[in-house]
Amino acid sequence: MFRRPRPTHDVEVIATTPLTSTLTRITLAGPTLSELGIEHPTQWVKLTIPEGASRAYTIRHHRPAEREVDIDVVLHGNGPAARWASVARPGDRARLAGPRGRRPDFGDAADLLLAADESALPAALTVLDGLPATVRVFAYFEVATAADALPLASRAGLTTAWLPRDEPRDDPRGSRRDDPRPKGRLLADTLLAADVPAGAAAWIAGEATAVATVRRHLLTDRALPRDRVHAKGYWKHGEADHKD
Ligand SMILES: Cc1cc2nc3c(=O)[nH]c(=O)nc-3n(C[C@H](O)[C@H](O)[C@H](O)COP(=O)(O)OP(=O)(O)OC[C@H]3O[C@@H](n4cnc5c(N)ncnc54)[C@H](O)[C@@H]3O)c2cc1C
Repeated sequence: MFRRPRPTHDVEVIATTPLTSTLTRITLAGPTLSELGIEHPTQWVKLTIPEGASRAYTIRHHRPAEREVDIDVVLHGNGPAARWASVARPGDRARLAGPRGRRPDFGDAADLLLAADESALPAALTVLDGLPATVRVFAYFEVATAADALPLASRAGLTTAWLPRDEPRDDPRGSRRDDPRPKGRLLADTLLAADVPAGAAAWIAGEATAVATVRRHLLTDRALPRDRVHAKGYWKHGEADHKD
């Protein structure tokens, strides 16, 4: 299918801020970022780094007047984008193309299941930011350690389960499918056993195999409405630049 080329934006790193042991915020500024046009939660861009690799990252915050965005990057140690982010310094240059991504439609669901690993935590938090206060949210976030739970804005009707993998530390070669506890498994196992309100909407993203397992469960065992279940693999064990 023909795809209209997305506008590109030359950007420069202006700050890096560690958020957790595995997630770092990179603040980027660029002269055209006032026109980025972020309209709804979960929108993302292709980040192209100087060595040429392009990878998808969620716009966590857009400040059009300041011509700035924040992207929160998992430092998993095993790919060009993660390596670039781990040493990024103010003045480093990159390019963004986008934004991309559809608005997740939760209809008039009273309950929302929100599930993410670290790669999808930034997007999940944009969903949370954009929800009406009347929606009850059951959030499940897989993280490396208990200390990696992020402070969340207080909100009525939010129940959050932080799921620490509690590895001594992540394997420097990155996460692999044959790890004894591969990333994503804890999230999937927890959701397979979780109470899910009938008729709930769902937004799930993270490691592709784990996301596919949960999606199947929600549609077949829990009979959630298909058009209200938004599930996307953000990366896949052993695959560079995975596209779901
Ligand atoms: C719509 C969308 C939005 C996304 N938003 C974000 C975001 O806001 N923040 C973010 O950090 N990521 C986000 N991602 C995921 C990110 O694009 C991928 O993790 C990407 O593969 C990272 O590129 P890389 O160059 O670091 O690794 P790659 O070269 O793509 O992969 C190299 C190796 O690293 C492994 N790997 C890739 N990602 C991870 C990971 N997270 N943990 C462990 N191992 C990994 C792969 O399995 C592969 O073996 C998003 C993806 C999509 C599709």
